[in-house]
Amino acid sequence: CGIIGYVGPRLSQDILLAGLSRLEYRGYDSAGIAVIDADGGLGMRKRAGKLAVLREDLEASPMPNGTTGIGHTRWATHGGPTDANAHPHLADDDKLAVIHNGIIENFAELKSELVGEGVGFRSETDTEVAAAMIGREYARTGDLVQAFRAVVSRLEGAYTLLAMHQDHPGLVVGARRNSPLVIGLGEGENFLGSDVAAFVEHTRNALAIGQDEIVAITPDGVEVTDFSGAPVEVEAFEVTWDA
Ligand code: GLU
Repeated sequence: CGIIGYVGPRLSQDILLAGLSRLEYRGYDSAGIAVIDADGGLGMRKRAGKLAVLREDLEASPMPNGTTGIGHTRWATHGGPTDANAHPHLADDDKLAVIHNGIIENFAELKSELVGEGVGFRSETDTEVAAAMIGREYARTGDLVQAFRAVVSRLEGAYTLLAMHQDHPGLVVGARRNSPLVIGLGEGENFLGSDVAAFVEHTRNALAIGQDEIVAITPDGVEVTDFSGAPVEVEAFEVTWDA
């Protein structure tokens, strides 16, 4: 439902939680974040219920913070609003974290293919199927953008997908089909959001990502390609409304 991604020099947990709270107006039933910490480990926390439940959980038992992170508020479509079904979903031995807005229409067929290969699942979501596919592909190549490219064309329906891998701190990769995704350009930091509300308190310089495109953000750069890997021009705009 609501999506935010951050790469830069600042600690990401507060940025993610503040962004998610700006996206609360869309409605949601669960929330979660993942960060890559200073030691290169991936931390993840997710809870059914309001953002306050997640916040309290993080306060009661803090997890290591880091400067790369993704955050999600979920509006359940596949699987009830439980902790396990909340996003992020992990893959590649819990080194890869994935969040998703929308619905992957052909997830059942893809899931049986994976189950046939012995892949286990911890949720009932369509999202975890996409996560497992990206994880399987990443394990082959070690290239997250390449893994997205191999997987996204097989996913039918509507999705904004974001992922990061603990082997690549400072990188968040996203893709979109029939669901929105925008880039927020900062100085030495960059953002992704399901809408500009996710990052408007940090930057008003935004880039719209077109249909069927993949984006990779690092603290210093942004690369957008189509699903086949060809570079595309992105359209810059300035957020003018009062936040
Ligand atoms: N279909 C996904 C799920 O049920 C994502 C829902 C959303 O857009 O929040 O987990």
